[in-house]
Order: sequence, then C-alpha cells, then structure tokens
Amino acid sequence: MGKFASAKKVLICGAGIGGLTAAIAMARRGLEVVIVEQAQELRELGAGLQLSPNAMHVMARLGLIADISAVAFEPESSVIRHYRSGRAYLELPLKARCQSRYGAPYYQIHRADLQRILLRAAQEAGVEIALGESATGFTQSDTQVRLETAKTTRVADVLIGADGIRSVIRDGLFGAQSPRFTGQVAWRGVVPTNALPPDLIAPKTTVWVGPQHHFVTYYLKAGAMVNFVAVEERSDWTKTGWNEPGRIDQLQEAFEDWHPEITALLDATSQCYLWALFDRDPLAAWSFGNVALLGDAAHPMLPFMAQGAAMAIEDGWVLAQCLGQYPPQQALLSFEAARKSRTTMLQKISRKNAKLFHRNGGLGDLWQRSKLNIAGLWPQTATQRLDKIYGVNVTRP
Ligand SMILES: Cc1cc2nc3c(=O)[nH]c(=O)nc-3n(C[C@H](O)[C@H](O)[C@H](O)COP(=O)(O)OP(=O)(O)OC[C@H]3O[C@@H](n4cnc5c(N)ncnc54)[C@H](O)[C@@H]3O)c2cc1C
Repeated sequence: MGKFASAKKVLICGAGIGGLTAAIAMARRGLEVVIVEQAQELRELGAGLQLSPNAMHVMARLGLIADISAVAFEPESSVIRHYRSGRAYLELPLKARCQSRYGAPYYQIHRADLQRILLRAAQEAGVEIALGESATGFTQSDTQVRLETAKTTRVADVLIGADGIRSVIRDGLFGAQSPRFTGQVAWRGVVPTNALPPDLIAPKTTVWVGPQHHFVTYYLKAGAMVNFVAVEERSDWTKTGWNEPGRIDQLQEAFEDWHPEITALLDATSQCYLWALFDRDPLAAWSFGNVALLGDAAHPMLPFMAQGAAMAIEDGWVLAQCLGQYPPQQALLSFEAARKSRTTMLQKISRKNAKLFHRNGGLGDLWQRSKLNIAGLWPQTATQRLDKIYGVNVTRP
C-alpha cells in the first residue's frame, strides 16, 4: 500500500474505552481492525465513570445511547460542598440543562457496563479482539507497521497505541519515561443504595472539598449503587502496582471528621481500591510515520474534570474520520492537529482543580476558597467555562 492510499488494516493496542471506541468507529468506516489486549478477559474493577454530553454525542453517533441510558444514572446537578458543614459553594444543573444546552445528556455509568456495551458493538462491527496478547514493541517502514506481542507478530498499515498511561507504544515512539506520581491517591468503591440509610445521598454529583482531601459521590445503575472517589494527598507511593485493594479502616480514618453523609457511606462500604494518581506533561507530538497514540497514552490527565475517558472517546471518533479520509500519515497528523489543543487544555484544567478541591491552609487556601465562593455568586461564569468542554460535538461535520 502506498503513501497516498487510505489505510485498510489498523492494529489497535489496548481494548480500554479509547481503543474500543476507535475500533467501532473505524470498522463502521470500512476499515479492517484488530485490537490486541494484554488482559485475558475484559473486566473493569468496580468503579464509576461520568460521561459528559461531549462524550455522549459520540455514543449517540455509534448508536449506543439506548444501551447506555438503560444502565446509567442521570444526575440532577453537580454541587461543590464544604467537607464538614455541607454548605454548598456552587451548584450547577445537569439534567435540566445538558440536553437543552448541549443536545446530549450527562450520564454516570459503571465502567464494566460501558466496556460490555462497547465490546459488543465492536464485535458486531466485525472488529477482531485478540485477548491475552501483550504488545512488547514495534517496527515500521514507510508503508507498514509490525507489532510484536508476547505471542506473535502482527502486520498492518497503521498502529494505534491506546494502551493507557504506561503505554508501550508511546515508549517505542518517543523513548521510555515513567509517569510522575502526583502526591495523590484515589480510593474508589461502590456501595449498594439499599445498604444505606434512605435518601442519604442526593441524586447529584457531589464534590466535598476539605483539608488535603476531597470526596466525590454519584449514583450508578439507575440509582441502585453509589460510587465514590476519595482523594487523599500522600508524600509517596511505595507499592509496586498503582491500583491496589484498599483497607476500609484506613479510608475511614482519613475521612473520620467529615460530614455524616460521608462517614455513613464509608460505614456501609465493604470493599475499596486504592489508585495512585500519576501524570505526564503534554507530548510535543502524538505520532511518527504510521504509528499514533490516543487517549491516556497520548494525554493522560488527572481525574479532577472527569474528562479522561471523554477525551479518549472523542479521540476515537476523530481518528476514525481522519483515517477514512486521508492517507495514513496525513490522517495521523490531521488527527493530532484536530485534538491536541483541546486535550492539552483539559490536562491543565484538571491539574488546577487539584488545588481548588484541597484546602491546604494559609493565603493560598483563602484564595482557593474565595474562588469557590465567587463561582457560587456568579454560576453563569462557571457555566460558560463548561460550555468549552461539554459544548463540543466532534461528530458534527
Ligand atoms: C479515579 C479516577 C476517576 C476517573 N473518572 C473519570 C470520569 O468520571 N470520566 C472520565 O471521562 N474519565 C475519568 N477518568 C479517566 C479515565 O479512566 C481514563 O482517562 C480512561 O480510562 C482512558 O482510557 P484509555 O482507553 O485511553 O486507557 P485505559 O482505560 O488505561 O486502557 C488501556 C488498555 O490497554 C491495555 N494495555 C496496556 N498495555 C498493553 C500492552 N502492552 N499490550 C496490550 N494491551 C495493553 C490495558 O490492559 C487496557 O485495557 C478517571 C480516572 C481515575 C484514575
């Protein structure tokens, strides 16, 4: 295949949210797609994911809205509250506003449900998924890429690294560089709603902000479960993994003087996981020749804007359109040009929110508190900021 023909066969490394979305969109454009995934089976740990309207536009174009809405939860609003008194600094409507303002809903979904929906859609679109194959490296010529896995060698016109923050494909493109520990860990868990006192948790996305910690709660599975993410500052991370089973007693201790809503939720928690939060600076480029990165492999971001998966989903759609339109190398460069400023902006906002959500004393703390109070007085300013994120529909020609 020459430089000027369109790609016919695409290899994707990684069957996460980004890799699966890209595969569905590419297969629907007539490309032959193979995903190579290291896991023996696709199984997400118990945790939730927020899907904002910008991500839902892509899901709508892929015909997956009905499947998602059947298992998701649509929150009334998003609210930031004081960790102890519960006072609301800022509340923004979601349910009443997202569909009318952005043309798509705001949903919260269990990761396992989303992955199951995407996996089935990928299989129905004819995508081949090779499980239990760990990529180890690649070589490329002007027209072909050879991906080495622990089992075999695979050949395609284009290789996409959708293999997350510790991407092997990224290392192969730009040299190995470890991600940086941010000094924060996230405890994550889900609790059945019927194990909680009635009406304990409001049908809202709630961010509780306090000293060196913040705590997020929202519903999943049409309200049958409550998901939480509890973020704590730590000086180091000494474990070998970055996602470990957590100890409930330690989690309770970290939040013991918080609002009774939080302590009651933790009392009902029987299992949790601890994720160390790692970060990387924006890359100068995302591709070289016929190989490119997407999602966390290209632009990992802290979870404080809940946009990492949304960006991987948008990437998947845009990349598929570029590959359907241009010869491979031009397609990969067009993809990067279309996406980079947006994902870089979100990497920066997510970092800033880490400061906004944690009280650290002193003048800096006063400044962050006053920013939240001001945002509460002029919520339209916060809405206008969100327009830049939620108001983008990458599927619109
Ligand atoms: C606490 C927390 C909360 C979050 N909440 C939200 C949220 O509410 N909304 C949101 O939009 N985002 C959220 N995110 C971010 C989101 O989870 C990520 O941005 C998203 O999962 C990235 O998707 P991805 O497909 O790029 O990578 P991943 O989901 O990391 O998938 C990568 C895949 O590649 C596979 N892989 C890796 N290496 C290899 C290899 N060598 N060979 C083959 N396969 C390989 C992996 O097994 C995996 O299946 C959150 C993140 C965290 C940590």
